[in-house]
Amino acid sequence: MIAVDTIRADFPILQEKIHGQPLVYFDNAATSQKPQVVIDSISAYYTTTNANIHRGVHSLSQRATDAYEGSRIKIQKHFNAAKSHEIILTSGATHSINIVAAGFRTLLKKGEEVIVSAMEHHSNIVPWQMLCEETGAVLKVLPMNEEGELVMERYGDLLTEKTRLVFVNHVSNALGTINPIEDIIDRAHKAGAAVLIDGAQSCPHIRPDVQALGADFYVAAGHKLCGPTGVGILYGKESWLDKLPPYQGGGEMIQEVSFEKTTYADLPHKFEAGTPNIAGVIALGTAIDYLNGIGFENIAAYEDRLLAYATEKLGQIEGLKIYGTAARKTAVISFNIGDIHPYDIGSILDQMGIAVRTGHHCAQPVMDFYKIPGTVRASFSFYNTYEEIDRLYKGLCKAKEMLS
Ligand SMILES: *Cc1c(COP(=O)(O)O)cnc(C)c1O
Repeated sequence: MIAVDTIRADFPILQEKIHGQPLVYFDNAATSQKPQVVIDSISAYYTTTNANIHRGVHSLSQRATDAYEGSRIKIQKHFNAAKSHEIILTSGATHSINIVAAGFRTLLKKGEEVIVSAMEHHSNIVPWQMLCEETGAVLKVLPMNEEGELVMERYGDLLTEKTRLVFVNHVSNALGTINPIEDIIDRAHKAGAAVLIDGAQSCPHIRPDVQALGADFYVAAGHKLCGPTGVGILYGKESWLDKLPPYQGGGEMIQEVSFEKTTYADLPHKFEAGTPNIAGVIALGTAIDYLNGIGFENIAAYEDRLLAYATEKLGQIEGLKIYGTAARKTAVISFNIGDIHPYDIGSILDQMGIAVRTGHHCAQPVMDFYKIPGTVRASFSFYNTYEEIDRLYKGLCKAKEMLS
């Protein structure tokens, strides 16, 4: 059960007015709002704990290090990773993917193959394209269907003895589809390929168990998990992280430096060059505690009900077409009304205080598949309400009337 009124009181921004109207925030897939405990955690860090980590002999540095490393352990437990040094703290999901893609420059050979899905965020396409250009490896695409589901019948043909890597999102940010990653991982491993799961969109709704999944890499964005911007997660199996070269050189990531030769630090420090976003990492730990306090099962169950309600309600609007009708999806509705431009709908909704995303959602191949320039996307979180969905419905009726 979700006590939505109590929860809403935890999020100060939900009291804001936009154009004189109470804010309805339906852009959760772009970034989530932050509860007061997370905001307080940032301020408490700078008020009582601020010092650089891992290097000071003084007590304050030790306090900062303990808080930072404590957050890593929270994330390890949350992901059920076997070892805390398998959790690398990054600046975001994009950074996490780039660490892996850049690392594979030394491991991938010309003519070897990698597989991407047709419904990826640009963050999980472009770094791999760069990798393929540099190495001469071949990028293959696992297609999707009208419902916005991956065509798994094609997966077997794509996997060959040359496949080295498969990268796919757990949940599509453009459509909300929950992909069958268990099957994708199993079959990739049988073919001898490694798998990176982009969990940026799943982590706000599903608690990942990386050991049960067997994922080689799993990435997430802190800011979509009620944490601050500028902090992200890269989980990697120890054996893989040992094999990958460091991404950036600098302080913190070395064992010994001379002008003749530098040796690298052990995991996780090898991938954490320079002073990290200490406050952000600590606040992300607070955010994860906050979410676990509500419970991911409760979050998912409530959001499923919001999705069902909104799908039914928006379905009453004539000419409204929903993109992404997969059997398993999170609380995201991507849609258009007739041939009205998504931007125009978004602007009218904004006038009513309703925040939605419009455009290609960093997933142009998905828009190309449907032969549309973009959609309006309403994405729901556990702090949203049925009344807010009613306001969206009314707003859309008004927008339709004004624009057609
Ligand atoms: C948001 C998102 C990303 C990128 O996350 P950043 O925070 O921009 O680094 C990658 N993949 C998916 C599926 C996303 O939703």
